[in-house]
Amino acid sequence: MDKVIDVPDLGVPRIVIVGGGFGGLELVRNLKKTDFQVVLLDRNNYHTFQPLLYQVATAGLEPDSISFPIRKLFHGFSNFYFRLAVVQKVDIEGSRVLTDIGELKYDHLVIASGSRTNFFGDEKIKYHCMPLKTVVQSLQLRSLLLQNFEQALQTKDLQERSALMNFVIVGGGPTGVELAGAISELKKYVLPVDYPELDVRRMEVHLVDAGDRVLNALSPKSSQSSQKYLKKLGVILHQNTFVTSYDGEVATTKKGDQDGVIYSRNLIWSAGVEGNSPKGLDASLITERGNRILVDEHSKVLGQENVYAIGDVASMKTKDYPNGHPMVAPAAMQQATQLAKNFKNEVKGKEKEPFVYKDKGSMATIGKNKAVVEVGSFKSSGPFAWFIWMFVHIMSLLGMRNKSIVFINWFWNYLNYDRSNRLITNRFSKEERKQMRDQGKAGVVI
Ligand SMILES: Cc1cc2nc3c(=O)[nH]c(=O)nc-3n(C[C@H](O)[C@H](O)[C@H](O)COP(=O)(O)OP(=O)(O)OC[C@H]3O[C@@H](n4cnc5c(N)ncnc54)[C@H](O)[C@@H]3O)c2cc1C
Repeated sequence: MDKVIDVPDLGVPRIVIVGGGFGGLELVRNLKKTDFQVVLLDRNNYHTFQPLLYQVATAGLEPDSISFPIRKLFHGFSNFYFRLAVVQKVDIEGSRVLTDIGELKYDHLVIASGSRTNFFGDEKIKYHCMPLKTVVQSLQLRSLLLQNFEQALQTKDLQERSALMNFVIVGGGPTGVELAGAISELKKYVLPVDYPELDVRRMEVHLVDAGDRVLNALSPKSSQSSQKYLKKLGVILHQNTFVTSYDGEVATTKKGDQDGVIYSRNLIWSAGVEGNSPKGLDASLITERGNRILVDEHSKVLGQENVYAIGDVASMKTKDYPNGHPMVAPAAMQQATQLAKNFKNEVKGKEKEPFVYKDKGSMATIGKNKAVVEVGSFKSSGPFAWFIWMFVHIMSLLGMRNKSIVFINWFWNYLNYDRSNRLITNRFSKEERKQMRDQGKAGVVI
């Protein structure tokens, strides 16, 4: 018999949640003081605030400021248990999950395992590019950026030197746009002072997007404002353009019939994500496009009893959202709140309520004093939008300590543009990363 994860049997229904992200944690919060035993499994013992990963990657924030220990969140929750475990498979027939530390039986299973970077099957790009989905990856990107600048000092070959300093960011969504803005600010204010021997003016920041406007989830007006800000910061925009290959030194692009090349040792892949569905589910339950688990309006996996999916990994097709809800934190949290309510309703013998998503708007920042914000019919760009962006992000961080540290950091950066976290704590190597990926090590898998 397989090893069993040691959690006590409380004699009440056990809800096992896979993933302590935005959805998983919200579900736990809403199940406090209920007649359920709640067991949360996550491969990390902390929650990651993904919207600010790019600031860790560009030396603006320390990883501790955007992460929060899961156990600390649930002090005093008498029905809550956490186990550090990588879920390898779900066994629906046997009502159990299989993990690297053993198996666990459930009465209800909630899959909240989020999403992973979508490389569209291109193994070469996957090996050479830098994704940005985890804290480990953000630190790897920071190390690579600084390592390449150190290496640029050691070459007399001007093309190689430029390639070491150039950046290609693939994908014009919020992550790509925010990264392009942050790297351009490093180029303007930090790198010339740190590396006076290098001609940092030769450094190029390319943003390559397959669409005809960046931030295409926002209105054309906000896209235009963002493009204006990016250009002002010196970002080279490639629209209607695909990156077709990358070998670690040269990115090949295609725009219509035109092929192009960009020399760069730093290619960041933010061109898309797909559902991080666990193994063990029937292929008919997973969407072909997006690898998300099909659920009904109660977040129940289609045709299954007692198995649910929420957040990025779930696809609930509705009249308003025929391709599923957007893969954003509020959607995951709202779905979790509704599911918890339905669990409680079931106990009380009440009807389950269907999930209805309330769009809370979108925003992105493109460097200091520049952001775009849209909430319903309210649209704003420029410094006021930037203050809203900062306020919303600070308030969304977990814990007073993190809120305060991020606020102080941003205030300091505002005054002098300095970024104090320019440390190479672990030298980054692609080969080592591949080995870690192959071994399924936490943080590098996706
Ligand atoms: C760079 C970046 C920027 C973003 N910016 C924004 C933004 O500005 N606004 C916004 O609303 N959204 C943003 N998002 C999207 C947002 O982060 C996601 O929509 C949200 O995290 C989804 O929540 P979730 O609970 O479904 O998954 P997640 O929050 O990703 O949580 C999934 C959890 O599952 C765990 N897990 C996964 N697989 C396993 C396994 N096999 N075993 C054990 N544990 C596992 C992970 O460790 C993680 O803790 C951004 C995402 C990224 C990557």
